[in-house]
Amino acid sequence: MPELPEIETIRRGLSSITNQKIQQIFRSDKKLRIDNDLDLKKLINQNILSIYRQARYLLIDLSNQQTLILHLGMSGRITLSKNFDKLKHDHFACCLSSGEWLIYNDPRRFGFIDLITTESIKNHKMLKNLGVEPLSVDFNEKYLFEQLKNKTLNIKTALMDNKIVVGVGNIYINESLFDARISPLRNANSLNKNEIKKLVASIKKIIANAIEMGGSSISDYQNTRGELGFFQNLHKVYDRNNQKCFDCDCNIERIVQNQRSSFYCKMCQK
Ligand SMILES: [Zn+2]
Repeated sequence: MPELPEIETIRRGLSSITNQKIQQIFRSDKKLRIDNDLDLKKLINQNILSIYRQARYLLIDLSNQQTLILHLGMSGRITLSKNFDKLKHDHFACCLSSGEWLIYNDPRRFGFIDLITTESIKNHKMLKNLGVEPLSVDFNEKYLFEQLKNKTLNIKTALMDNKIVVGVGNIYINESLFDARISPLRNANSLNKNEIKKLVASIKKIIANAIEMGGSSISDYQNTRGELGFFQNLHKVYDRNNQKCFDCDCNIERIVQNQRSSFYCKMCQK
């Protein structure tokens, strides 16, 4: 599933679409996760004012004061290409004034496309309850301490909650907990202030490094030019069960928490 580093990599790959005019639109008749009956024809002749990211959502502001929302779900992909071949899982595409096509492809159809007035974007049902961005100044030790102090569930599952911090996702939470030397089994409210400080720093470091490396290409993630990310080569615990820990003689263990895999070193992480 593409998480914040992968979506941010895609956003950066789409920076060239700003100031271009949408000239043609394609929409397949297949339903996506949110079934909506959008009149995408009104995008034709609109200029793209900006593209930005919030959590795992890509937002494209248009000159008609509307914003196009793209969400990639589990397996979605956005590519920029000179050619548009209407492949089987291409659900949406628009031809830009440069002659390139922006193509949205989603084999599993867990993603969605939506169109909303730019001024009401904060009230969109998928955006209005989101927590803070991990790389923002709002995500700090004081904030995380307040969020965790009454939570008795384990820290791994607590961090998966987008109402606390957005887009970190399973891979990067596993890696951040290893980096901060905190066991995923700990109760969220058992972390002291020093551990929370370390954890915040680790999450920021891991997410920033992952963006720098173009994300992690697990399963089928690719960037807008069809290239793979590299951060998977730097994973220290994720998907490394029964392999030696890089920092001690133990093997990495895999457990299941809230139906998601957690990978950790029981010697290094306390
Ligand atoms: Zn270890």
